[in-house]
Amino acid sequence: MAKIGINLTTGSLQQEEIIVGIDLGTTNSLIAIIHPDSKQPTILKEFDNTTLVPSVIHFGKGGQVSVGNEAKQSLITEPQNTIFSVKRLMGKSYKDVVERSSFFTYKVLDDGTDNLVKIEVNGTFYTPVELSSFILKALKQRAEHILKTPVNKAVITVPAYFNDAQRQATRDAGRLAGLDVLRIVNEPTAASLAYGIGMTKDEEKIVAVYDLGGGTFDISILRITNGIFEVLSTNGDTYLGGDDFDNSIVQWWMEELSISAEELQINKSLAQALRLKAEEAKIHLSRNDNFIGTVNEKPVRLTKEKFDTLIEPFVDRTINSCSNAVTDADITISEIDEVVMVGGSTRVPFVKERVSRFFGKGVHDRVNPDEVVALGAAVQADILAGNNKDVLLLDITPLSLGIETMGGLMDVLIPRNSKIPSKAARQYTTQKDAQTGIVVSVYQGERDLVQHNRKLARFTLSGIPAMPAGLPKVEISFLINADGILVVSAKELRSGLQQTIEVKPQYGLTDDEVERLLMDSLHHAKDDIQQRALVEAQMEGKLLINTTKNFLEKNKSYLSGEEMAATNTALQNLEEKISKGTKDEVQGAIEKLNEISKPYAERMMDIKVKDALVNKNIN
Ligand code: AMP
Repeated sequence: MAKIGINLTTGSLQQEEIIVGIDLGTTNSLIAIIHPDSKQPTILKEFDNTTLVPSVIHFGKGGQVSVGNEAKQSLITEPQNTIFSVKRLMGKSYKDVVERSSFFTYKVLDDGTDNLVKIEVNGTFYTPVELSSFILKALKQRAEHILKTPVNKAVITVPAYFNDAQRQATRDAGRLAGLDVLRIVNEPTAASLAYGIGMTKDEEKIVAVYDLGGGTFDISILRITNGIFEVLSTNGDTYLGGDDFDNSIVQWWMEELSISAEELQINKSLAQALRLKAEEAKIHLSRNDNFIGTVNEKPVRLTKEKFDTLIEPFVDRTINSCSNAVTDADITISEIDEVVMVGGSTRVPFVKERVSRFFGKGVHDRVNPDEVVALGAAVQADILAGNNKDVLLLDITPLSLGIETMGGLMDVLIPRNSKIPSKAARQYTTQKDAQTGIVVSVYQGERDLVQHNRKLARFTLSGIPAMPAGLPKVEISFLINADGILVVSAKELRSGLQQTIEVKPQYGLTDDEVERLLMDSLHHAKDDIQQRALVEAQMEGKLLINTTKNFLEKNKSYLSGEEMAATNTALQNLEEKISKGTKDEVQGAIEKLNEISKPYAERMMDIKVKDALVNKNIN
């Protein structure tokens, strides 16, 4: 299916690189591509027509690892060696998951710390990143098998509420699996893209994405403006889904058949048979009004009407979450333009009706709700491959963006991994009296000193009206706009003087460079803290020298000869320490100068206050 071209200069065959879209799900994962002929997003199917790969990993006694349907077979027989729901552990510490530890049938290690969790299988420890990488590796191999071409690049989806640690963990899992993860995309964003929402230039929409799967429920409200998908709010329940529907049917049948909870505890095969039959009934009732079947030769029945009353409390909970999400997004329901349905459980007609009624409009349910996220990931992959030049979708900033402040220090305005679009502003001031210009140098990177980061731009805000040092208020604002371009503005707030430049931060840096910059920042973290402390002390010292010299200049006549001499010695000492002393030495010299100048500075204050009172006409 991959496209093949001929390089006219070398005469060699060239394959166009495929970028796959991956929905790395809690229960199941899927891969999709844009079909080279139909140009439509398409789920990759094995020869046996399977599309879903269960997100399950089984470790055999001999050390062999299997993933997917084969591994799923061992869920009940070998619960200790069979890992499911690893997505729930991504970027989490044991403390984060301890409340739900009974949910996991395998060993989640309690190390009593805030460190990321580990899972023990057959005496070996695995991180969730490693475990996810097993799934991704299997997906990569599957794609290569189906497409008959190497697959090295992917777009992977994650829930909108995933934090930086969870996103980074997903990216790392991709790398471990040998995939170059070009983008981490929010699942609701992908689902919208699969419906073509947000694909047109100048499109402005608010979209609600309702995602009810087997075990989780998410509602996300997105605002789309010019190809930017901004998450306005998310809400949900990480333990609510179709499994609860199945359970409620089982409970009902237990009553009908007079089966006690104790009996089910003992008779695991009856429990399993009831659960499977309940799911079958649920699925049947999505298209029919009645279900009749048997469990262990006993007849079981369920009407659609009864089913709806059984699941109503769960559906109510999802609607409650929707209502909270709308409030958190600071919008009204009527402002929502589109409602997109995701997840297998949205096939239940009662769910669709309630969601549609709540939002007051029809819902998008044409695309298979199990596949919609992976299909959207493929759309995103295609955009990244440069095949759809009209759309530019962005997610997060790979490196921090900031400006140089006194002493060559990096002052970060937009931290790395910030969602795009991002805005940040901070106020600065001048260092010298009557300073009319301020230089703004923009940098990208994680180190504390700008000299170790990458310079992106430099400009001068000139024409600031002359004012004493510290009085001008210069606001520097950073905006990463719709085109992924950083716009930096400097504005002097008292005079209104303003200047703006555009900087392209994302491009020109390869992934390797980004990685190198990140690694450097980790290696040098300790040095950087010490260096920053020294520079800060030096700056404080320089500032004190300036103020003291100014003071001496203006108030010479009030000081004794001794005071003058002592101050000059202390000034000289501080200057020396600033040029070649340690941080502690600089601070010592600052304290010494402060000690000497404090008494006469206070005396001067008294004189000035008295003068002011004498000169004032008090009627
Ligand atoms: P997901 O986690 O998105 O794969 O959704 C899986 C859930 O969807 C499971 O609880 C399934 O039982 C449920 N499901 C799949 N098909 C249907 C259907 N036709 N009607 C109702 N529920 C379904």
